[in-house]
Amino acid sequence: MKNIAVLGSTGSVGRATLSVIARHADLFRVVALCAHRSTEAVAAQVLEHGVPVAVIVDPDALEEVDDLPTAEWRTGAEAVIEIVTDPNVDVVVNAIVGAAGLEATLSALLAGKRLALANKESLVAGGPLVMAAAEEGGGELIPIDSEHSAILQCLRGHDSASVARVVLTASGGPFRGFTDEELQGVGPEEALRHPTWKMGAKVTVDSATLANKALEVIEAHYLFGVDYDKIDTVVHPESIVHSFVEFTDGSVLSQLGFPTMELPILYALSHPGRVADPILRTFDPVQSSPLTFEEVDRDRFKLFALGVGAGVRGGTVPAVFNAANEVAVGAFLSREVRFLEMADVVAHALEVVPRRNVVTVNDVLQADSAARHAAREFVSSPPSMACG
Ligand code: MG
Repeated sequence: MKNIAVLGSTGSVGRATLSVIARHADLFRVVALCAHRSTEAVAAQVLEHGVPVAVIVDPDALEEVDDLPTAEWRTGAEAVIEIVTDPNVDVVVNAIVGAAGLEATLSALLAGKRLALANKESLVAGGPLVMAAAEEGGGELIPIDSEHSAILQCLRGHDSASVARVVLTASGGPFRGFTDEELQGVGPEEALRHPTWKMGAKVTVDSATLANKALEVIEAHYLFGVDYDKIDTVVHPESIVHSFVEFTDGSVLSQLGFPTMELPILYALSHPGRVADPILRTFDPVQSSPLTFEEVDRDRFKLFALGVGAGVRGGTVPAVFNAANEVAVGAFLSREVRFLEMADVVAHALEVVPRRNVVTVNDVLQADSAARHAAREFVSSPPSMACG
């Protein structure tokens, strides 16, 4: 029996994790839930899954709800670290959204836990620190991201010297094939309508801009220790092939499956083994045909090129890209900037925040906050608007 703590339990990956675990109650048990402020939703999860410990990070949000079900209710950022490092916890599922998940990621790895990581932003922002924490604490980092789960599965049994290239697949999002003129007019409603994946708002907008794929290139670089010149991306609208690994002898392996986050979640819990799950066995090659692939349109989806460039520059630059992108997505969802302007917001932050090496968490936090500041300033007074 593995004891699991789920951070970000009310989001899309958090909820999917609880349903996967409920189907495999003989193997996995949820011992702690954590959310930022959705107390009512957590209360319902505590009742449904019989969870003994619940953390609501924001103390005010905890007080807003009377009649909490019986559980050990805790609050504050330090309570998150307590559950992540609790000796009773075997696996931490980190499904927090954004760079806010970094501290939990580092603490889980330093405490020697298996970290099932859906919070790719923490790895992008603090890559060198995250990998060093895993090394130091003996923690195990397993991605909950369909592409990286695919790569991990393809790499099993092969040494890294035999890997020639990894190829990430991208759905292309709802605006694949759009012209600049068409992209000009798209709003949050259209961006949130993803053709193949059901996900939260942040990652869905990131999929529409392809910023998500840039974050995933950086994620792959750190997770698998692959140089950027050996990471390619291809658009695959059907989202059935979750990524490829090409080996030095010309063999190419890939992992396929119906696009559901439940598959990489279950694999992150069971790795290196597999758990039988009839509900997830939906693959039909004929139904899945045809599988098509095309180039990424880097001129149209500028956030992709900006993000990969940030990864190549390294140091604090990926943290700047990530933080500015979080601000840009927020501004787009609240209609302060238009779709194509998100790239301008991020480009501005990348230009004005200087690159530093990542030595301590503070280097990441400072870059993150400088980038958010620069991005917000740009959102409130973009130079193009000042010119009329
Ligand atoms: Mg992904």
